Amino acid sequence: MKLSNWDEIIMRSGYIAIVGRPNVGKSTLLNRILQQKISITSSKPQTTRHRVLGIKTSVEAQAIYVDTPGLHKAEKKAMNRIMNRTAVKTLNEVDVVLMVVDSIIWIEEDELVYLRTKQANASVILVINKIDKIKDKERLLPILQQKSDLNFFKQIVPVSAKSGKQVEQLEREILKFLPEGIAYYPEDQITDRSSRFLVAEIVREKLMRQMGQEIPYSTTVEIEQFEEEEKLNRIAAIIWVERDSQKNMVIGKQGLRLKEIGKQARVDIEKLLHTKVYLQLWVKVKEGWSDNERSLQSLGYGDGAKSEFGDK
Ligand code: GDP
Ligand code: MG
Repeated sequence: MKLSNWDEIIMRSGYIAIVGRPNVGKSTLLNRILQQKISITSSKPQTTRHRVLGIKTSVEAQAIYVDTPGLHKAEKKAMNRIMNRTAVKTLNEVDVVLMVVDSIIWIEEDELVYLRTKQANASVILVINKIDKIKDKERLLPILQQKSDLNFFKQIVPVSAKSGKQVEQLEREILKFLPEGIAYYPEDQITDRSSRFLVAEIVREKLMRQMGQEIPYSTTVEIEQFEEEEKLNRIAAIIWVERDSQKNMVIGKQGLRLKEIGKQARVDIEKLLHTKVYLQLWVKVKEGWSDNERSLQSLGYGDGAKSEFGDK
């Protein structure tokens, strides 16, 4: 979209963190707002491991969304510790916080997120997601009442990230709480992540969706080859698992499961890159990496020393 006469318009810009316990629909909401898949989703908790920026620029505002890995209760594993640290750090660097909850229940883990959110130095909007699951809309009222009694949320907005219901209303509310400011990113940029990264994430999404509970969340994907040719992109990716038994499960009988993962991933990658893709997947074993902070950092988890959105 062209920003004509943009210097006559008072522009708002700022960062919005999307927080909430795992599985409430944070990534789905971000994809819905951006109308493009930049954050992967699945019915398994801990699907989102990396902080992903989603940038939406309109004539009046640039909203920069930060999808965080969920806040976790257990901090025993190195992976969870890093994810928690990332989520908490994010809370202190943004203008608006969207605290996302499931419309059906508010559980202890939501309470934990709520307590963390209270320490944030930002306007907090409560997003009650998955309202499509509630048949009797009256059931929402007590929840709304109870939460507005908390006198803490700037707004409470029920939405369905899946169907898109009320998401535009939510976006309008968000803009009200963004400070005046200039665009930090070019108007056509929608994420801070490279195509390479998004491709690895798509493969991981298909993997998580294909596998039942048997595959641990420690599985990761590394892009080994990414070549843009005239007619197609040649991509090779390694799926890292921790044990031979997991490797066999991912490959499946006669390689059928891996083939299916590759097929589904290719469809989404072609949509993302707007080109034909030749995708090769390998499964390799690397023991114990998910419990080793250093090897996690080397695969791009956590922040390392630098802040990933340091323009602020
Ligand atoms: P996250 O862990 O908070 O990022 O959650 P995800 O975005 O990965 O979503 C978790 C699951 O909830 C997925 O299976 C989504 O399809 C589902 N989901 C997300 N939003 C909605 C919604 O508005 N309605 C329904 N029925 N399901 C949703
Ligand atoms: Mg997510």
